[in-house]
Amino acid sequence: MSGADDLVLVINSGSSSIKYQLLDPESSFVAASGMVDRIGEKNAGIEHHIEGTTVERHVPLADHTAGLRLVFETFAETGHDLASQGVHAVGHRVVHGGEVFYRPTLIDDSVVEAISNLSSLAPLHNPANVAGIESARKLLPGVPQVAVFDTAFFHGLPDAAKTYAIDAKVAAAQGIRKYGFHGTSHEYVSGRVAQLLERDPADLNQIVFHLGNGASASAIRGGHPVDTTMGLTPLEGLVMGTRSGDLDPGIVPHLMRSAHLDIDQVDELLNRNSGLKGLSGVNDFRELQGLIDEGDAAAKLAYDVYIHRLRRYLGAYLIGLGGVDAITFTAGVGENSPQVRADALAELSRFGITVDPALNNAKDRAARHISVPGAEVAVLVVPTNEELAIARAAHEVVVAAAQL
Ligand code: AMP
Repeated sequence: MSGADDLVLVINSGSSSIKYQLLDPESSFVAASGMVDRIGEKNAGIEHHIEGTTVERHVPLADHTAGLRLVFETFAETGHDLASQGVHAVGHRVVHGGEVFYRPTLIDDSVVEAISNLSSLAPLHNPANVAGIESARKLLPGVPQVAVFDTAFFHGLPDAAKTYAIDAKVAAAQGIRKYGFHGTSHEYVSGRVAQLLERDPADLNQIVFHLGNGASASAIRGGHPVDTTMGLTPLEGLVMGTRSGDLDPGIVPHLMRSAHLDIDQVDELLNRNSGLKGLSGVNDFRELQGLIDEGDAAAKLAYDVYIHRLRRYLGAYLIGLGGVDAITFTAGVGENSPQVRADALAELSRFGITVDPALNNAKDRAARHISVPGAEVAVLVVPTNEELAIARAAHEVVVAAAQL
């Protein structure tokens, strides 16, 4: 393990989980990583990976502070006492920065309050992020903490892309606009693409597909996003594991009037019981592929809807950008499903887009090209690394603050 003073602890705190990584922002060396889950339940526990070994413990955890305390205890048990050795900074993933936050921000009481005040825009996420921040501040007093926002990369979206065509006064009063999410991933991956192509990001038109459990696409011109699929919330856009993505907004009042669902039930339906799960019964892509292989018609339809939606945005962004230099796939599905990549880009050679089957099917985990050599449009697979991007952002903020 390198000196703890060089390391940044990255915390991604969800409603009942805390994912964490301790890493060196410069070398990208990961000293330890893990996840606490089922916070608030009796069968809570931790899975902690350090120096090639995995430690598992199961104990009831009342809240995020108890969860983070378990993380610290597990570090200490495995010979790395975080509180006494000191870490250089803590980087927190925060889902919604609203109009307020558009760059990584050093956390103080007023920042915590402002993130908390944005909870109406991200009721599932921001309260959990705040719980993680408050716990970390308690357990690591004196260590600078930095919030890195999922929405920040998309802060400067053009007005035409970010504006919903509803009553402008209502939209202004309620903060309704397209914010976009997965920004840390889209920014990191599009930056890596420029490096891999050995091109100045300012000269590139890019489309990035982040296809994981949540899924989003972005159109990026000259390093700046000009459109993205997620909106006011992470529900808009592509078909996801359990989220519907785009639908006719008229479906909501229809469900409330005709099926007598209340607003929480509609929210639950669209966020947790829709998407691949709603259509096929499973949200995990590997399970979906298994069902398709067994001839399951609902699973095949779910897959077809998923690809159809993806191609709809591909077309929109190709035209929106007026042509594209690179198309990139990332996250669990994007990195691991050659079938999705092939189907997403099938029969587009007239647009200069041709995937090479051998490159696409190669079992390579590194960032790589999958377009035929010499193709007009580069198609790439680039593993995302949000933790590294958060660690680097936190490190930069802390170094800059120290120089003031
Ligand atoms: P993420 O949210 O980025 O962790 O991605 C999770 C999704 O990636 C799940 O739907 C997984 O089933 C999917 N996934 C992971 N590995 C594979 C794989 N080898 N083939 C297809 N899908 C995968």
